Amino acid sequence: MNQQIFQTPIAYLKGVGTARAEVLQKELGITNYADLLRHFPFKYIDRTRFYKVSELNPDLPNVQVIVRLRSKEILGEKHTKRLVAQVYDDTGVMELAWFQGVKWVEKMLIPGKAYIIFGKPGEFNGKRQMAHPEIELYSPTAAKEKGNMTLQPAYSSTEKLKAFSLDSKGIQRLVANLLEQCANEIREDLPATVATKFKLMNRREAYWNIHFPADAATLNAATNRLKFEELFFIQFKMLKNKVHRNLKFKGNIFSVVGDYFNNFYKNKLPFDLTNAQKRVLKEIRLDTQRGVQMNRLLQGDVGSGKTVVALMSMLLAIDNGFQTCIMAPTEILATQHYASIKSLIDDDFLEVGLLTGSTSQKVRKVLHSKLESGEMKIIIGTHALIEDKVQFKNLGFVVIDEQHRFGVEQRARLWRKNVIPPHVLVMTATPIPRTLAMTLYGDLDVSVIDELPAGRKPIETLHFYESSRLRMFGFMKQEIAKGRQIYVVYPLIKESEKLDLKNLTDGIEVMAREFPLPQYRICIVHGKMKPPEKQVEMERFISGHAHIMVATTVIEVGVNVPNASVMIIENAERFGLSQLHQLRGRVGRGAEQSFCILMSSQKLSNDGKIRLDTMVKTNNGFEISEIDLQLRGPGNIEGTQQSGVLDLKLANLATDQQMLLVARRCVEEIFEADPMLELPEHAVLRQVSDGANGGLSWDKIS
Ligand code: ADP
Ligand code: MG
Repeated sequence: MNQQIFQTPIAYLKGVGTARAEVLQKELGITNYADLLRHFPFKYIDRTRFYKVSELNPDLPNVQVIVRLRSKEILGEKHTKRLVAQVYDDTGVMELAWFQGVKWVEKMLIPGKAYIIFGKPGEFNGKRQMAHPEIELYSPTAAKEKGNMTLQPAYSSTEKLKAFSLDSKGIQRLVANLLEQCANEIREDLPATVATKFKLMNRREAYWNIHFPADAATLNAATNRLKFEELFFIQFKMLKNKVHRNLKFKGNIFSVVGDYFNNFYKNKLPFDLTNAQKRVLKEIRLDTQRGVQMNRLLQGDVGSGKTVVALMSMLLAIDNGFQTCIMAPTEILATQHYASIKSLIDDDFLEVGLLTGSTSQKVRKVLHSKLESGEMKIIIGTHALIEDKVQFKNLGFVVIDEQHRFGVEQRARLWRKNVIPPHVLVMTATPIPRTLAMTLYGDLDVSVIDELPAGRKPIETLHFYESSRLRMFGFMKQEIAKGRQIYVVYPLIKESEKLDLKNLTDGIEVMAREFPLPQYRICIVHGKMKPPEKQVEMERFISGHAHIMVATTVIEVGVNVPNASVMIIENAERFGLSQLHQLRGRVGRGAEQSFCILMSSQKLSNDGKIRLDTMVKTNNGFEISEIDLQLRGPGNIEGTQQSGVLDLKLANLATDQQMLLVARRCVEEIFEADPMLELPEHAVLRQVSDGANGGLSWDKIS
């Protein structure tokens, strides 16, 4: 028996051949049996009952009707040749038309006889019509059979495929061939304990029924089963990686809390840690004592104090004789981290290095040698850090900011910089929904800072329609009079740079008119500016010289001006939720009450309204990310696009959250009880891991 039967190239399937195989591959990415089996119907056609002629209208899907033939006629010649038939039932008459297979159909049409027809109702010359219906002679048995067929699968196809007779029907035939040939090879891949516990349909039946459902309830059970399997195996892969990593890699043991940590805590830390920060530090402390490599995700809203936690963990590493680094995805972010770390510790305490793409050769050399000798304990940088030239004496702790922009491979390259891989702490800039975190970072442990530092006043968010613009200007003036600074942000939409720029220049003009010199000073920052120019403008704001910064979203990351307490977002309805939340996070950094004003046009889409309402209602990034997921689906959440993890065929992270949680827990229990999958009931999982399951595992998910 061929173990890898589902990996067989699709060309070998009955009814395919090389030419069709080529279009299947090109148009649908179907290269082998497994791919075809997973080309699931995108909808099902209603064959649950017979319609009456009078009910037919072009809005209906494909339906079936019992009619009697009145007359038939072949019209036109050669290319225009067509067969037209008049049919009727007790409610009305209609026309059937065929442009292909005319001769063959013509032969089976006998006036006076009844037929079961099935097709898409249409209209032609104001008359009811159906083109190319499926047709068969009526008999009570046929009617009974057809009436019970209930749901008919519809497969996505393309014009090119149709040219090879691979429309929905054609594909259905191939799937039928495939199931006939190979259904017996579809093996169960979930442990029987799991299948029983969750009352899952068996796998072979599920594949049959998702393509050819017996009825709606069976279809439901089949879809659920395959969805569960899909989610289960993502989590299986994630947790297996984690378990095996823990078994394979030793971890540096941070046995002491030493001078650096204590000194900082007692003498440098300018505030009390929040309970959440303390809890996370404790989690990290425990992780780094176990002798296995830590891989932890640190989630927390903007301003929740992740950086301090990262720094203190780094000091712990240094106390134990190790070097540490922070890697950020952009130069701006790296520089920002550098500045905030430097504001917490000075050179007398510890030297901190910055290494980015624009670090000069000279400085670079010095940094390289200080890292190699072990003299430098903290380095902050971009991808420049993972170049082979950068050698550490003893790298023990790595902080990665915004991991999703770095691949797993890049993470691994940092590990290789030491015999025992360093502990890794991943920080995300914005909270992401729990289910998404589980799927994207499922192999990491998660820490959450769910509490803002005490005394911080929550940002007050208001939504103004365009009609209240004067009120908004008045408010701005009032705040400037109090000594505050203000951001005014315009959307940047990639499709139309011209429009954006116009939008921005118009905005600047309006602002300049409303806030004239010399009383008011405005600075301008946008993406099209050269870096030095931008720097000058930023400086004018940072120094407090400018009252207002008019900007496109370039300020999303990397600006920290505590005195700026008002954020105005123009055309706020055009921003995504997470972007709005990020922007809002630019204020609320000082002691003053901060405000975020969302300006929008009077006309709002439904989603736009929900977004703005959400912003007004809550400051909680986790809550916001959940709503964002519901609104846009996982594929559009920032950072997920590059991740193959979200190539889900059936499951939807927004709507199937409950099932994901169940699947995750289920996998956890399996690994807790049996990390090496040695129990007989887990043999099936070992087989899937080894790919010895007929080649039909969810292994495209990596
Ligand atoms: P994040 O990286 O999570 O956005 P940061 O670590 O940059 O947050 O902290 C935001 C600001 O809050 C910084 O100015 C930081 O010094 C300050 N901060 C952090 N933790 C506390 C705390 N426990 N109490 C008061 N201020 C804090
Ligand atoms: Mg930060």
